[in-house]
Amino acid sequence: MNTNHLKAIVAIKRVIDYNVKVRVKADLSDVDLSNTKMSMNPFCEIAVEEAVRLKEAGIVDDILVVSIGPKNCQEQIRSALALGADRGLQVECDVSASPLDVARILQKIQQEEGADIFLLGKQSIDTDNNQTGQMLAALLDCPQATCASRIQIEQNKAIVTREVDGGLLTVEMPLPVVITTDLRLNEPRFAALPKIMQAKRKPLAVKTLADLDIKLTTDIELISVSSPAHRQAGIMLNSVDELISTLRSDAQVQIPKHGEEA
Ligand code: AMP
Repeated sequence: MNTNHLKAIVAIKRVIDYNVKVRVKADLSDVDLSNTKMSMNPFCEIAVEEAVRLKEAGIVDDILVVSIGPKNCQEQIRSALALGADRGLQVECDVSASPLDVARILQKIQQEEGADIFLLGKQSIDTDNNQTGQMLAALLDCPQATCASRIQIEQNKAIVTREVDGGLLTVEMPLPVVITTDLRLNEPRFAALPKIMQAKRKPLAVKTLADLDIKLTTDIELISVSSPAHRQAGIMLNSVDELISTLRSDAQVQIPKHGEEA
């Protein structure tokens, strides 16, 4: 395998913009998406940026971005094309596909495309699943590295540093690989206006689930959605003495006086 002509696929998801305060529908059936600003999932932006950096380094020469969702997810595909991806693919899907279904769809695309590097975000900020990359690697029976904070591609292998609880873990795997991105991998660039204009002319294909011979499973049922419990605002105190007296009086905490047994 020639490391200079690799193909990358980046899966990107359209989600509620991270700055938006999420509203819940009155009947608690779901999140209210009407008139809500939508964006590319931040971890997917990091995945696109990484693929573009690999292309700029002469390692990757074709980047396909894939999004599974309704027609308006083409906006996020165009944004990825403006950032430097070469081709886009929207898989039409009007319902929210489960991580397993997304992984099954991406598996089909991989069977057609034969990419060497599959980049995904470590998690979607709307559903917080953190599952799709792992499921895709299992379906493709290929190595995976989740939560990547550094990616090096050498010869026919990927050397990935992962953020784990106790620090950093570096793993080495033969290509093809599935890699999911963590926050510290890179800082995504902003698209310049000329690139946004050029992106309008880049190829964007559309496929249906039927084209890919996929039927969605119904193994996840959304039962209800509710807002987090309302929290009381905090108060600012000026000294430790004030803190101790407030804890004693307002929160009824038993704090022994100086010299008293606890
Ligand atoms: P999740 O497992 O849902 O937390 O998602 C992890 C990653 O899977 C996301 O950051 C995307 O890279 C990918 N992904 C999830 N859902 C979709 C989708 N509908 N279309 C494209 N990629 C997706």
